[in-house]
Amino acid sequence: MLSIPTVGISACLGQRVCRYNQKKLDSPIPLGILEHINLIDFCPEEEAGLGTPRDPIDSRWNGELQIFQQRKTVNLAPLLRETSLGIIGRIKGADGVVLKSKSPSCGLMDHKIANLKEPDSPLTGNGVLPDLLLQGQYHLIPTTERRLSDPWSLQLWLAGVFQLSELKQYIRTGEPLDEFHQQNEPLLAGLGRLEGLSHLRRDPEKYLRQFALSFLTDIGHQGFLTNLSSKGSKQPFESSARLWPSLQPGSTRNLEDHYPFPNARTFSPSHI
Ligand code: SF4
Repeated sequence: MLSIPTVGISACLGQRVCRYNQKKLDSPIPLGILEHINLIDFCPEEEAGLGTPRDPIDSRWNGELQIFQQRKTVNLAPLLRETSLGIIGRIKGADGVVLKSKSPSCGLMDHKIANLKEPDSPLTGNGVLPDLLLQGQYHLIPTTERRLSDPWSLQLWLAGVFQLSELKQYIRTGEPLDEFHQQNEPLLAGLGRLEGLSHLRRDPEKYLRQFALSFLTDIGHQGFLTNLSSKGSKQPFESSARLWPSLQPGSTRNLEDHYPFPNARTFSPSHI
């Protein structure tokens, strides 16, 4: 039986009306699947006491990150960092996290930052919470609601989150990872990580870390099938993604453009 994964989620994504303008957004996770997940929602801006509705905030880079609310002069970056650290304490054991794209607080590598040193070259980076979260190297799979709007990406992320939860269960109970690895062979072959992870089966901590990182590759449906066929198998990965057996046409976006590891090319304030 699959273990129940825990997922952190920006609360404005279908959980609470907490956006600065009180606009309601749908959950990117389908209702039928939400029933099989423990959700932990968070809103850094509300939890920092900014209230809803509120004036929007924006980020500026002037050698250090500063965040200001419109019509106010107090730099909110320290307060939002402190609040985000408290939230990370709640979600660091989760298996996945869904972040609201482009937000100064929650955006994942797609948040626009005004560059005060070179105004014609705006920067793109993490919001405050993901920036701290990704420095912590926790074993969870981050994504955004924009990415999950692609059916293939949603399916692959869910497969990763459910299997990561199961892997943690194996490690908690001290079971050898051979059976888990064998069950997940088609999934790992499709991701191109079968051999790399095979060598780590005797080192659960490294296996766990690398398994989570495997899902940061935007493999796309065709790339996944190509990897599978090069391993002599074209069967879909029902054994790994048992809840979502149908494979959908996938995205061709390159996830490395949006995520900071393993090969970050995009600006992140903490990486300067
Ligand atoms: S993006 Fe983050 S801070 Fe903004 S409303 Fe949503 S949860 Fe709150």
